[in-house]
Amino acid sequence: LLDPRPISWTTTTTCGYCGVGCTLRVHVRDNEVAAITPVHAAPVNRGHACVKGRFAHAFTRSRDRLTTPLIRRGGRKSPLEPTSWDEALTVVATRLAAIRDRHGPDAIGMISSARATNEENYLAQKFARAVLGTNNVDNCSRLCHAPSAVGLTASFGYAGGTNSVDDLDGTDCILIAGANPTEAHPVIGARIKQLVLRGARLVVIDPRRIDLAEMADVYVQAKPGSNVAVFNGIARVLLDEGYADEEFLRTRASGLAELTDLLRDYPVDHAARVAGVQPETLTMAARLYGTARRPAIVYGLGITEHAHGTDGVRTLANLAILKGAVGTPGCCGVLSMRGQNNVQGASDMGALPDMLPGYQHITNADVRARFARHWGVSVPERPGLRILEMFEAAIAGRVRAMYVIGEDIAQTDPDSGNVRKALAACDLVVSHDLFLSRTAHLADVVFPAVSFLEKDGTFVNFDRRVQRVRPALTPPGQAKPDFDILQLLAHTMGAELGCPTPADALAECATLTPTFAGISHARLDRDGPLHWPCRAEDQPGEGRLYLDSFATHDGRAALAARPYLPPGEQPDAAFPYVLITGRRLVHYNSGSMSRRTPNMELRPREVLDLHPDDGARLRIADGNLVEVTSRRTAVTFSVHLTDTVAPGQLFTSFNFPDTPTNALTSDVAETVTGCPEYKVTAVSLRPV
Ligand code: SF4
Repeated sequence: LLDPRPISWTTTTTCGYCGVGCTLRVHVRDNEVAAITPVHAAPVNRGHACVKGRFAHAFTRSRDRLTTPLIRRGGRKSPLEPTSWDEALTVVATRLAAIRDRHGPDAIGMISSARATNEENYLAQKFARAVLGTNNVDNCSRLCHAPSAVGLTASFGYAGGTNSVDDLDGTDCILIAGANPTEAHPVIGARIKQLVLRGARLVVIDPRRIDLAEMADVYVQAKPGSNVAVFNGIARVLLDEGYADEEFLRTRASGLAELTDLLRDYPVDHAARVAGVQPETLTMAARLYGTARRPAIVYGLGITEHAHGTDGVRTLANLAILKGAVGTPGCCGVLSMRGQNNVQGASDMGALPDMLPGYQHITNADVRARFARHWGVSVPERPGLRILEMFEAAIAGRVRAMYVIGEDIAQTDPDSGNVRKALAACDLVVSHDLFLSRTAHLADVVFPAVSFLEKDGTFVNFDRRVQRVRPALTPPGQAKPDFDILQLLAHTMGAELGCPTPADALAECATLTPTFAGISHARLDRDGPLHWPCRAEDQPGEGRLYLDSFATHDGRAALAARPYLPPGEQPDAAFPYVLITGRRLVHYNSGSMSRRTPNMELRPREVLDLHPDDGARLRIADGNLVEVTSRRTAVTFSVHLTDTVAPGQLFTSFNFPDTPTNALTSDVAETVTGCPEYKVTAVSLRPV
C-alpha cells in the first residue's frame, strides 16, 4: 500500500488458509496482490488476520505456477509435457471411460479437496456419482475431522460444532484440548488470549506445552493417546463432586446410567496414571470446568487423529452434556477447530463415500431417489471407499484410476511410501494443482488449477458459517478453477453436470439439501455469512444449535460410555520415542503455498522438537542432525531443543517435502472412520 501507483480494484473474500475463515480485503494492482487487509466488520475475525492470510500470497505469482495442462505421452517413465486442454481432457475422458467399462465404476477413486469451494466439492461428488457411477469419493476430512463428524452427530445430531464462535464472548472458562490455536488458528488463539486477559479461566489439555499453556490456570500435560481416560476422569469428578446439571441430564440427555457405570472404573487416580499427570491436576481441571457458569470447549486434531478419535470426541462431548453447557440459553458448547479453509464444507457437500450433501446417507432409498430425480441418473447405493481404503484397493489392483483434486496426498497422507505405491499401481492418475506437487509428479495428466484468490464460490468455516469467496485476480496462463475443469471433463465424457455457474451449483445443492435450503449466493452477497442449518430463505441460520431439541433420534444429547483403549502404535525398546505431528504458525500443510512466500524468511526449513534432557542423554545439541526411524522408514531432521515437548516425545510438522514426515507416520487408522493415527508414531532417534 506504500507503493504510490493506484490500486486497480479491491475484492472482499474469505481466507483460503485455515478453517477460521477470516474475511479479507484483497487490494490488487496490475493483476497482482498489492496488500491484504482484514475486514473490521467481519463477524469471525473482527479486523484481525494472521501471518498466513495477510502476507502469504506471493505464491499466486510464483514462476512455477502451472499454466498449461501436462501429460505423459510415453508411460510413467516419460516426462510430463505441456499440452492443450483438448488433448488433456480427451485423454482423461477416454481412459476413465475405458477403466469404468472394463473394470466397473468402482475401479475409480476420487479425492476431492478441502481447499476447493463448496460448489467445486458439490460438482466433484456429482461427477463421481452421476458421471462415473461410483461412491468412491472422499476428502481429506477423512484424515483429520472424520471422528468429529461421526462423534458430534452421535452426541448431538449434526456433524459440526455446536455453537458460533461469537458465543465465546460469554464464556467464563475455556477448556482447550488437543488444539494449538495460536499457531493453527491464530485469530482464534488471539481471541482466546483476550478472553483470558478479561478474566475467563483457561484449562489446556495437550501433550505439548503450547503457547496458551503459559496462560492456563490448569495445564494437563497428558500423554499422546490418553484423551479418553482424561475425559472420563474429568467426567467422574463432575459427577462425584456435584457439578453435573441434574435437571438437564433428566430432561435432555440419555445414557447417564451406562456412563455412571463405566466411570466406576475411572477414579481420578487411575485416569491420571494413564495420562501421566498428577491426580490433583486433573481434579483442578474438572473443578474449573465444573464451577464455570458458561464453560466452552475448544478442541482440534489432537483429539481426532488417533486410533480411537471418535471416542475422544464423544467423551469430550460428555463433559458439555454433563454440565448442561450445550443447547441451552447463553451456552458456549463445543467448538471443533477445523484445519483447512473448507474441510467442513467439503464434507457438508457430500464429498464422502457414504453421504450425499448435508450428511444424507447414501443407503437411504428416499434420499437417493430425490437426487436421482434431479440429476436424471441413478445414484449408486453401496457406500464407496474411504481414502486409505482406496490406496489399499489400488495396491490390490481393484482401483485402477485415482483422480485427485488439489491435494498432495504423496506428502500429506500417512505412511506416504504406501501412497506412492498405490499411485504407481494405478493405470491412470490425474491431479488438479497449482504446482507440480509430489502427487502431480506421479500423475499421468495434470490440470492447472487456480487458487482461492482466483475463484468464485463459498467456503464453510469451523463454526458452520457459509461465506463468499470472490475472485480478486485473473488466473495465470490457461489455469482454470476446479469447477470449470470438472464441467469440461464431464462434457468430454458425453455428460453434463448441469450447473453452469457456482451460484447455480449452490442453488441445486440447496434444493436437495434441507440444511442448506435457505442459502444462496444472492443472499450471502446481500446479508453476509450464514450458519447452516438454514432451512428457508426467511430463516437466519442457526449459530447456537439445539436450543429446543437435539437432532438425535430421541431429541436428547447422547452421553457415551467409552472405555480408554491404548493407541494403535506403541513405543517399545526398539522405537522408544513418540512422534507427534502438527502445525507451525507461518506455514500451512504441505507448504506448497506458504513456502512460495516471504514467510520462508521466518521459517526456512522444518526441525524436530526434542526435549533438552533427551538431547543431553543422547549428546545431541541444538541444530545437530538426527535420523528418526519409525517402523516404516527413516528421515533426517535438524534438532530444535525445547521443553515444549515432554521427555520421550518429539514434534514436527509436514510442511516441507525434503523432511517427509509422513513417510514415518503410523499406518494405524481408526476402524469407525478410517482416520489415521497421526498423533502417535513410535520412533527411534540416532545422531547422524
Ligand atoms: Fe487465514 Fe486462518 Fe490466518 Fe484467518 S487465522 S487469516 S483464516 S490463516
